[in-house]
Amino acid sequence: MQRVFSGIQPTGIPTLGNYLGAIRNWVTLQDGHECVFCLVDLHAITVWQDPEALRTQTRQQAAVLLASGIDPVRHVLFNQSAVSAHARLAWIFNCVARLGWLNRMTQFKDKAGKDRENHSAGLYVYPNLMAADIMAYKATRVPVGDDQRQHIELANDIAKKFNHDYGVEFFPEIEAFVPPEAARVMSLRDGTKKMSKSDPSEQSRIEMTDEADAIALKIRRAKTDPEPLPSETDGLEGRPEARNLVGLYAALADLTPQQVLDRHGGEGFGPFKQALTDVLVDRVEPIAKETSRLLADPGHLENVLRGGAQRASTIASPIVDEAERLVGFLR
Ligand code: ATP
Ligand code: MG
Repeated sequence: MQRVFSGIQPTGIPTLGNYLGAIRNWVTLQDGHECVFCLVDLHAITVWQDPEALRTQTRQQAAVLLASGIDPVRHVLFNQSAVSAHARLAWIFNCVARLGWLNRMTQFKDKAGKDRENHSAGLYVYPNLMAADIMAYKATRVPVGDDQRQHIELANDIAKKFNHDYGVEFFPEIEAFVPPEAARVMSLRDGTKKMSKSDPSEQSRIEMTDEADAIALKIRRAKTDPEPLPSETDGLEGRPEARNLVGLYAALADLTPQQVLDRHGGEGFGPFKQALTDVLVDRVEPIAKETSRLLADPGHLENVLRGGAQRASTIASPIVDEAERLVGFLR
């Protein structure tokens, strides 16, 4: 059975982008794979996190995942900092990856912007830690949104160089698993920017804990253009906001964008936004309700994560021990 690894940062409440681009596929992959799902708090602190907020966000994140259908009994759910194998292997990978490789990473450029010099060194080496997360489990399938493709390629480059440098086929090749629809959900305020849970504008995203009223308001306010919807997908060229809303509808209703336009082409955004709100509320509301039920018992959530960390460590520790032996560390 193939092993799946995937992570999400506890930097805020999971968004619809996280759900459609990642979480929903995690739930599906649970059948037929051995899955390791990780709340990547080591990644989260690459940008400043208030300590109390980080704890709260980690619980919230765990609750949303469980409410979405992640099964912590058949699979492994834990927070990254509780398993030291991640940081140990990341250090080795910091010494394997080349600066030139990291310089090409577009996520660092997007997150650091023009003010590069004032960002943490952690944000820069983030992709090395991500490679370590996956390789510590020798996972071979990694479900991610489109924004993480480049990091997966880098993880393969690091693993290949490690294998080459130490003369063994130790780490396997990994495969990104990117969903066909909604691989990149865009901001509701700007159709050229990806939806992010850490975006300063709450209006830019649907959070998986939003209630029906909040969803309706955010969709009503979502940026659009004055033209009605086209009847063919070609007509979405150069209309990023329209493309995004049609893509969202398609992903939520399990349709292709063309099938959405077959139904709604020629409509103005008023009625289309109403239809989109309906499918969104149907999907998000049950998850939001279950999340708030789970959050009422933080002790239970923490127990689930602690149990997951023990199981994760049982898989990862021997793999990282062996990597350290290959490097030449004396034990
Ligand atoms: P942050 O702003 O803190 O980076 P984020 O919303 O980008 O948060 P991550 O924790 O970095 O979320 O990513 C978790 C998973 O969600 C990854 O697999 C990523 O590819 C996916 N993902 C993130 N944003 C989107 C999006 N807008 N559309 C589709 N998938 C997404
Ligand atoms: Mg991100």
